Amino acid sequence: MEASLRKLYLLILAIIILPSLIFVVYELGTIRESEKIIEDIYTNQLDAVLYSINQYAEDVVSGWANRISNEQNTNDELQETLSSILVEMPSVSLIYQFDSLFNQISFSSLKDSTNIHLQQIELMLGATEISIGRLITYFKNGYRKIEALDLDDGSQLLLFVSSFRGNQIINALNIDSKEFINTVLDPKLQEIAGERFFITAYFGAEGQMIYSSDKQHIPESVTHKKTFWVLDDYYLGIEMRDKTISDLAWERSKKDLMIIGVVELVLLLGVWIIFRNVKKQMELAQMKSDFVSNVSHEIRTPLALISMYIESLERGMAKTPEKINEYYGIIMQETQRLTSIVNKILNFSQLESGKRKFSFQNTNLNELAENVVASFKVNLENQKFQWNIEQANDPVEIVADKEAITDAVVNLVDNAIKYSAEKKKINIKVGMGEDKAFIEISDSGIGISKSEQKHIFDKFYRVTDRNLAHKAKGSGVGLSIVKQIVEAHEGSISIKSKPGVGTSFRLEFPLIKKQIP
Ligand code: ADP
Repeated sequence: MEASLRKLYLLILAIIILPSLIFVVYELGTIRESEKIIEDIYTNQLDAVLYSINQYAEDVVSGWANRISNEQNTNDELQETLSSILVEMPSVSLIYQFDSLFNQISFSSLKDSTNIHLQQIELMLGATEISIGRLITYFKNGYRKIEALDLDDGSQLLLFVSSFRGNQIINALNIDSKEFINTVLDPKLQEIAGERFFITAYFGAEGQMIYSSDKQHIPESVTHKKTFWVLDDYYLGIEMRDKTISDLAWERSKKDLMIIGVVELVLLLGVWIIFRNVKKQMELAQMKSDFVSNVSHEIRTPLALISMYIESLERGMAKTPEKINEYYGIIMQETQRLTSIVNKILNFSQLESGKRKFSFQNTNLNELAENVVASFKVNLENQKFQWNIEQANDPVEIVADKEAITDAVVNLVDNAIKYSAEKKKINIKVGMGEDKAFIEISDSGIGISKSEQKHIFDKFYRVTDRNLAHKAKGSGVGLSIVKQIVEAHEGSISIKSKPGVGTSFRLEFPLIKKQIP
């Protein structure tokens, strides 16, 4: 049975637990993947935000270029127009306008003296990949490209093409990028950041912060960065206000993990319930099969004795009248034993199927106890038992089926005899409390361990771990019969037992207050 249970256990494990475990491992693997996907989605979103900021910077400068072009084309005073526009362009300190051959068209500066000259611009352009010809070609094709040149003083020169009276001219704007970000772009950056993001700007390889959309709260670290438009060495950063990207991804994964955990628990609980039920059914099947073999064995022994003594009598082997009487006595005793076994089984089967009819009448437990002990007298004497009945002084009257209660007490006395070893002592006590009558059958036998006490009232259950209990004949239905009879009388059965010390069963019944006619 243990081996088949183990097999069943392994089978359940293989069929249900293993696939679900594989599933969990797989899910855990994919959680990392989905975390990555979610991270990618957020990263792309942040990228899009940064892209829109760069686009806005481009739009601002394109707006300036359009304004310069519009106003200069409608106004003859080139220099003056440029100066008046320059005043309205924050962060721009100087504008040069020249043609593709570096001939100056106009020049305007906010400072009195400037250390940038056309020749210098020409030289610097020569040292970079920026080509005036290419900017003009782009412009002719409808795209105004803006390029930036780094100057020694840390400022930048923005270069773009505008049209002037049908020709393309080059504009060079000297801007202070830090100021450009903090004054020109700031309102837009604030708007985009809103309640959700921190937007920051940095300069140089060390990442010195030169701008934050939230002046009070500067984020400790920014996980997402991008180069700032055409401004070399400037970077834009973005971070979520409440949670980082990995926080968000982990939140999703946590939910998934919790669902998987709950599913696993439900699955394990289901497996446990199935396993327990199957185990119970297997144990019951085993007990039933033991029952059949125990009963067969119990019936076979008296039958063998009866037939042996009858045969001896037939053959005239008993010569003296005493011997003949002795043989008859044995045959009688074994027949009674057989009858009691068959009755016990019939009793059990009737109780189990609910067919047992009880006929209730006033019953005195004092008398009943005395009668049962009397029926065991010869048996007790033969086996050298000491016994004692403690009767109550007054009659202990209950409403009961006398025969059924007798059966119950007989079963208990029978067990007390069967499960007593060296110390052969039996005590039967009858008494009453306020509204309860009781009969207690105690022995000084082998006792029953606490763990077994839970099961002994189950049908077919037998204790098999100790020698005597194992050897003693029985069917495992005795205590189940007692319990069912007691409960049919609205009574209860309780046990006090200690291995090696003894056992005491107590049956309690409601006392009658008024007589039954
Ligand atoms: P059985 O036919 O085996 O006696 P019962 O239902 O009467 O079946 O009892 C169930 C089990 O309880 C027995 O197998 C025995 O191990 C244990 N038991 C019952 N009565 C006693 C007792 N007085 N002392 C020790 N063990 C007992």
